[in-house]
Amino acid sequence: MANRVFNFSAGPAGLPEPVLQQAQAELLSYGDCGASIMEISHRSEPFKQILDSARNGIRTLLGFNDDFEVLLIQGGSRLQFSMIPMNLASRDQTADYIVTGAWSAKALEEAHRECNVHISWNGTDNGFDRLPGNEALIRSEDPAFAYYCSNETIHGIQFPEAPDYGAAPLVCDASSDFLSRPVDLQRHGLIYACAQKNIGPAGLTVVIIRRDLLERSSDELPGYLNFKSHSAANSMYNTPPTFVIYIMDLVCKWIINEYGGLDSLAKTNREKAELLYSVIDRHAGFYSCHAQTASRSNMNVVFRLPSDELTAAFIEQAADHSLASLAGHRSVGGIRASIYNAMPRAGVEALARFMDDFASTNG
Ligand code: PMP
Repeated sequence: MANRVFNFSAGPAGLPEPVLQQAQAELLSYGDCGASIMEISHRSEPFKQILDSARNGIRTLLGFNDDFEVLLIQGGSRLQFSMIPMNLASRDQTADYIVTGAWSAKALEEAHRECNVHISWNGTDNGFDRLPGNEALIRSEDPAFAYYCSNETIHGIQFPEAPDYGAAPLVCDASSDFLSRPVDLQRHGLIYACAQKNIGPAGLTVVIIRRDLLERSSDELPGYLNFKSHSAANSMYNTPPTFVIYIMDLVCKWIINEYGGLDSLAKTNREKAELLYSVIDRHAGFYSCHAQTASRSNMNVVFRLPSDELTAAFIEQAADHSLASLAGHRSVGGIRASIYNAMPRAGVEALARFMDDFASTNG
């Protein structure tokens, strides 16, 4: 479509075009409903099928068994910052936090209100430009859970694989790399992700939880904040965001149709990121990555130019080439190119060409 740009927004982010086209085609009447999916009951048969299909899509893509349950909860990832310690730890227990960037730091802040916390690693002094190896983690004795963020969206650093935390249930904020690569779920007790980066529009958070952990939720918790309520109600404790779930189902189907599974999608995501990092490295005196090389994210490529003037010119001229939403987060500055699943390779290639030209002209 002529007026669609290559959208590098960090979230809400671009959706696969075939998904938007199908949603558009079905917008006025879903199947033979004679009404939009937005206009029918969440208890109706068509919606129940979508809900089952969406959850099965996630289950199939990540390949997990019945030990785990998929809950769909509103309130964004930020609500999980509170819900997770509320449900998984009692007030006198300790939870371990690996603090690698803005998002795990905010999660820690909320956890402080709910239980004791122990910081097993803190990247603040390094400006959140790297991730710890397993040997650097200082674990507390018998933590209720250990928390990490697999991809720090603002700082552009991504764990190559889950940290090793022994027997403690590992909790992962996968908000900005969910369904972008395979995950070893068996090493985790809980993985969660808000929808608005890789799996749909804003309004929903996917929580994959090991069933035995549901037993920890106290009946004293407010109903909506208790994982058990969502599990018992089959994720329809209150009216769910039906349209978001519908799009999420289409996105899972798109991944399966387009890539067959997460191995192949992960390979594409790696190649897309390498295209941009290779331009940055080629013009090393002009562009500089925020992340140290071993911690670079395949989802959010964060880099700087030599001056604020050049950064502003870069963003302005990129927009003229239909390369949109490239400004870095206000706390880090510079440029952030978010290249989630839906970003086509052609968009990354166009950005790489632009970066090459811009460096040659201005460097
Ligand atoms: N965690 C990460 C890694 C994120 O990138 C974000 C949003 N950018 C959040 C948590 C917060 O998500 P929400 O706005 O859905 O609460």
